[in-house]
Amino acid sequence: MRIERVLANNPGPYTGPGTNTWLLDDGTGSVVVIDPGPVDSRHATAIVELLGQRAPVAVLVTHTHPDHAPMANPLAGELGVPAVGHGPGPKFNPDVTLLDGSDMMVGRLRLEVIHTPGHSDDHLCFLAGAVAFTGDHIIGGSSVMVEDMGRYLASLRRLRGLSLDRLLPGHGEEMGQPEAVIDWYLAHRLQRHQEVYQAVAAGVGTVADVVAVVYAGVDRSLHPLATRSVLAHLRLLFEEGRIAWDGEVPVALPP
Ligand SMILES: [Zn+2]
Repeated sequence: MRIERVLANNPGPYTGPGTNTWLLDDGTGSVVVIDPGPVDSRHATAIVELLGQRAPVAVLVTHTHPDHAPMANPLAGELGVPAVGHGPGPKFNPDVTLLDGSDMMVGRLRLEVIHTPGHSDDHLCFLAGAVAFTGDHIIGGSSVMVEDMGRYLASLRRLRGLSLDRLLPGHGEEMGQPEAVIDWYLAHRLQRHQEVYQAVAAGVGTVADVVAVVYAGVDRSLHPLATRSVLAHLRLLFEEGRIAWDGEVPVALPP
């Protein structure tokens, strides 16, 4: 097995240094491309040049966000292979769809598919033995935006239960010690969950006010993203019976 990375040229506040496009080779020249990123002819050329004479078998996407999936269909077309993901999304139309527990052969290598909803409903992680391609479920160097907190925490706990050696994320550097990384992610999320609840209990006001308090230490340019995570925490707090809504204002319920 051989793994290579091509960094897409899309650095930014939401993408860190840019999107990691991963090439996974079974060791005999069968290769999948994971997360080709946004449409960018220079990045496509870099991927095709790195593939060289090897045989691509598919272009995979971990999820359909705009920094991961839009080049999948055009690149798959250019390479003459299927574009593969959990389902259609903006600017992505899979030729083959993968569900939780699906297997995919890359030459001699078996790729196992885990559905990890939370960052997005359609998020997949790909496992090659003890190596996990984690997309935006887990990224290098920071936490991620979460759409559905209950499912996200469940997806983290699910990965935690696998015997993994390496995490290869959609952004940032690869990580060893997956259990420690996932424990940090879980602790960070549960801490934020408590902070959101405490802000509501203190009566700070609207969702925007909760964001301003809980994410006071985070650059304001990231507050739109933080708002989505706070809403995900609030929905989970509501499901847990810890808060109610008074119009637009979340209100803490007695324990
Ligand atoms: Zn991303």
